[in-house]
Amino acid sequence: MSILNADLHCHSTVSDGTLEPEALAARAKANGVELWSLTDHDEVAGQRRALVAARAQGLPYLTGTEISVTFADVTVHIVGLGFDPDHPALVQGLQRTRGGREERAREMAEQLDKAGIPDAYEGALKYAGNPELISRTHFARFLVDSGVCKDTHEVFRKYLTDGKPGFVPHRWARLGDAVGWIREAGGVAVIAHPARYDHSPTQEYALFSEFKAHGGQAVEVVTGSHSAAEYVKYADMAIEFGLAASRGSDFHSPDESHCDLGALPYLEGRLTPVWDLLTDRIQ
Ligand code: AMP
Ligand code: MN
Ligand code: MN
Ligand code: MN
Repeated sequence: MSILNADLHCHSTVSDGTLEPEALAARAKANGVELWSLTDHDEVAGQRRALVAARAQGLPYLTGTEISVTFADVTVHIVGLGFDPDHPALVQGLQRTRGGREERAREMAEQLDKAGIPDAYEGALKYAGNPELISRTHFARFLVDSGVCKDTHEVFRKYLTDGKPGFVPHRWARLGDAVGWIREAGGVAVIAHPARYDHSPTQEYALFSEFKAHGGQAVEVVTGSHSAAEYVKYADMAIEFGLAASRGSDFHSPDESHCDLGALPYLEGRLTPVWDLLTDRIQ
């Protein structure tokens, strides 16, 4: 059923969100969400709390995560939904994926220091609820709160994107591995926010083809970072590639996210919603 207020993408303090899983569950319920998933970056440590909180709210829940992948030298995010969060292949794969974050963060801080911003590692760490998940978002919050930039978007533009002084290129998981871990754990793999990647049309086609060949089954069509024209473009691509469609706000924080939980248009009726593939996984 396409007409369902499903929100299958958001972040808590377990990765780079500012709300605890319980507060997100309450906010999702208050906003009319009918099916929810917490998809912290490279981590499933919040899944038990999210499920318990969703149950308390009477909110149907799917397990979730968002895995960082490097594809054609660009970082791509693959959401996993409806998996067993204790499955060893997935747990170990996620652990390896987040393993490089500390060293990367230290290198980012060194570069920021050379750009005249001292002590950014310690500064960012204070914002990270989970030190293993220290991310560019935590650096961005530190730089905003210390007055270097007016908002996190300005920090990314000036410091944290490719070619800027605080950007450190990083090799994340391989596409086939990320999709494999999700599938082995019984879940469905979803290409997150495809419009956000700096790929040529040929590379985008390769991403969809290889994702599908590895057993990926869905793509986010309606997300907080897509325009109305992109909803249509990726609906067409979902159909072309025989992929189901997902819907998720990618909510991180009431102060930073322009799209709130559940505040998205419905999926078009011509699409197969990803939750139709996961009916036996809804908890
Ligand atoms: P990382 O995994 O450490 O590379 O951090 C990536 C995170 O940074 C994403 O999940 C977003 O939450 C955030 N992010 C990426 N680009 C931007 C941007 N232009 N403005 C604000 N936040 C961003
Ligand atoms: Mn994030
Ligand atoms: Mn993402
Ligand atoms: Mn996300």
